[in-house]
Amino acid sequence: MKQTFHIIAIKNPFDDPFLLIRILREKKALLFDAGYIYGVDTGHLLKISDIFITHTHIDHFIGFDTILRLLLRRNSPLKVFGPKGIIDCIEGKLKGYTWNLIKDYPIKIEAYEVYRNRINHSSFYAQNSFKRVDNDSYEFNKTILVDPLYKVDALELSHQIPVLSFSINEDFHININKEALLELGLPIGPWLSDFKKALKRYYNLETKQLIDNEVILKVNNSLYTLKDLMPIAVITKGQKISYVMDVSPTEENFSKLIPFIKHSDHLFCEAYFLEKDRQRAIDRHHLTASDAGRLAKEAEVLNLTLMHFSPKYINSPQEIYNEAMDAFKK
Ligand SMILES: [Zn+2]
Ligand SMILES: [Zn+2]
Repeated sequence: MKQTFHIIAIKNPFDDPFLLIRILREKKALLFDAGYIYGVDTGHLLKISDIFITHTHIDHFIGFDTILRLLLRRNSPLKVFGPKGIIDCIEGKLKGYTWNLIKDYPIKIEAYEVYRNRINHSSFYAQNSFKRVDNDSYEFNKTILVDPLYKVDALELSHQIPVLSFSINEDFHININKEALLELGLPIGPWLSDFKKALKRYYNLETKQLIDNEVILKVNNSLYTLKDLMPIAVITKGQKISYVMDVSPTEENFSKLIPFIKHSDHLFCEAYFLEKDRQRAIDRHHLTASDAGRLAKEAEVLNLTLMHFSPKYINSPQEIYNEAMDAFKK
């Protein structure tokens, strides 16, 4: 079974964190934090459509300029989501360069700042030499991005400063039954992607029925109703992937995080310190490996990937894995 989300994660947990998720058969990728992205295939980076920044400490935002450099000729807008201060930080980065020869470039940056129950939205377009334009703000209630195939949620937590955790959710997953496809005499092709998008819109997961039986889809010059095509769809539970970086190890943060990441198929979590350095973790507003394991256990996640280790453990990363797994499997 092919998953919708294809994960490209950091290889070395001592490097600055990021997580890149390619969307199956879509020319799209979502980037969570812009840390050490330098080894990543340019083909993947060129697909980035949306960037989600947990906070703008340099280790999470240093790769932004490299991405911008690559995407200057991008026609579709580049959306950047982040916590309080993200718009000022993007503006500051853009002001660090000279843009007199950029006016014919198509790129448009749309920046979204999540703060308490509002989202502030500003635009930076190459055609205006990236001059900041502030748009109307709107209400924030968990979901920050809705796509026909998935949605992305954000949760504001504390890392002394506001920090966001993210979760990408696919409500259900559609696989294609190749035998049923053959029986109907239908070819494999790009129309399957339209079929999946139509199903996402018209299929009700609770009743397991189509909301509208009359929806028509064109397949190689022939017309089919969505209902006729239903035998080719195999519907299963969707994937949920969560990304948690740089969170103060407080009960208040844990009590918000656990329901937010509940039942994730995959949790990517910082494990900056070891339990023996807990006081340091408290002072520096980071989780320990044991905290990461406990979160994964209490939220009943299936897979845990540890990231973002303090350089002080460069010679003993195994201790971090052991400590987290002890708490996770307990
Ligand atoms: Zn930080
Ligand atoms: Zn960090």
